Amino acid sequence: MKLYNSLTHKEEEFVPNEAGKVAMYTCGPTVYHFAHIGNLRSYIMEDVLEKYMRYAGYDVKRVMNITDVGHLTSDGDTGDDKMLKGAKREHKTVMEIADFYTKAFFADCAKLNIKTPDVVEPATHCIDEFIKVISSLLEKDYAYEAGGNIYFDTSKLDKYYVFGDLAEEDLEVGVREGVEEDGNKRNKADFVLWFTKSKFDDQELKWESPWGLGYPGWHIECSCISMKHLGERLDIHCGGIDNQFPHHTNEIAQSEAFLGHKWCNYWFHVHHLNTTSGKMSKSKGEFLTVSLLEEKGYDPLVYRFFCLQSHYRKSLVFSWENLDNAKQAYEKLTARAAALVKESKGAAPDQAAFDKLKAGFTAAMDDDINTSNAVTAVYDVLKADTDADTKLAALADFDKVLSLGIVDKAKELAAGSSAEIPSEVMELLEQRREARAAKDFALADELRDKIAMLGYAVRETRQGTEITKI
Ligand code: AMP
Ligand code: ZN
Repeated sequence: MKLYNSLTHKEEEFVPNEAGKVAMYTCGPTVYHFAHIGNLRSYIMEDVLEKYMRYAGYDVKRVMNITDVGHLTSDGDTGDDKMLKGAKREHKTVMEIADFYTKAFFADCAKLNIKTPDVVEPATHCIDEFIKVISSLLEKDYAYEAGGNIYFDTSKLDKYYVFGDLAEEDLEVGVREGVEEDGNKRNKADFVLWFTKSKFDDQELKWESPWGLGYPGWHIECSCISMKHLGERLDIHCGGIDNQFPHHTNEIAQSEAFLGHKWCNYWFHVHHLNTTSGKMSKSKGEFLTVSLLEEKGYDPLVYRFFCLQSHYRKSLVFSWENLDNAKQAYEKLTARAAALVKESKGAAPDQAAFDKLKAGFTAAMDDDINTSNAVTAVYDVLKADTDADTKLAALADFDKVLSLGIVDKAKELAAGSSAEIPSEVMELLEQRREARAAKDFALADELRDKIAMLGYAVRETRQGTEITKI
């Protein structure tokens, strides 16, 4: 399997530390609000990566944190505490907010067929681990105390900007426009490991530490939670591309300073979901959630399909028109699979034909998780010169990774539509689908009335078009 490694800026053959096993870490959500569909693009693509590794035979252990303390709005050491901001907005405690949005996050993940990682650990459960690592960094002189806070001293490293995709001057925290400089830092790039001098008098969550009552910085959370569950050597670390700096850069700095050796070999970064006016982000106020997609009549799996149609290393532009195109394609796909279900004789697949189809799929996925080509491999199944049972077996096999629910949906459709529906009605249904796609709703309504006169009711549901006998 070839994977692009952000650390080396190259596609590389993936070779884990221990043969057959993968230690995988993912930066989890900051649970101060609902996840937006941009955040979920990252989690969908990471889910595909994990599932493909399992499909390829690896024994994967995947760990994810829940950021419930320490993440400031600047991603660095300045700005508001995101959790506190959420609590104030909703007149609740930080822990109530964390609990509510953690559940909401996993509910959204379930709707998108995103598997829950093997270990999910909230940062607030690991204070002792943070204190242990920070104490060690102080002992080794990689950290210092200034103005009440504990900082990591980036000047002690040979190389701090390890990802190096961007110019250093664009990256330095504390010199970016609109961000005030922290006079306590020895070097501009230094970052906080532990805050005791909170600029927020109302900071709710504080813990005793050797340096006084305080709370951890966001970056130390991921290093410690990863080491706690995955040990000293990580195979792969995932996150959205915006996490590369400062978050992942700081994670590497402090983890390797603490461990005294290389920490993680592969870095997998998912590029952003953008709107036509830029990156989708919560700070801009309006953002799209899974619930909103559902309210507008979209099956969440249509959004998953939309994401898989593009490669994770390309930014993806969201528009309703693009989503509508994905919806049409997804419905066509499930309808074609439903026809296969009807044709199926329940026979064993033709092994040679199945292997050939599977080879197309694995070639796409081995090529840096090229889901766009993997979707093409799904279409290749439909076009293939083989029987329905072989095709269904291939679709079910690919879906272990893609999790688009194609075969399940096809079975539902086949059971719902069944042979009883006259071809005349099916023809009108197809014309109505085309009219809706062309946004000719007057014609679509006319066609629905015609269908009703033939004794069938048409209804749009989250799962797609439903047809029932009146
Ligand atoms: P947060 O909850 O802000 O910590 O972000 C959760 C994850 O979503 C992180 O891995 C981010 O890098 C990622 N992320 C944030 N915005 C976007 C976006 N517009 N598109 C894709 N991923 C994003
Ligand atoms: Zn992280």
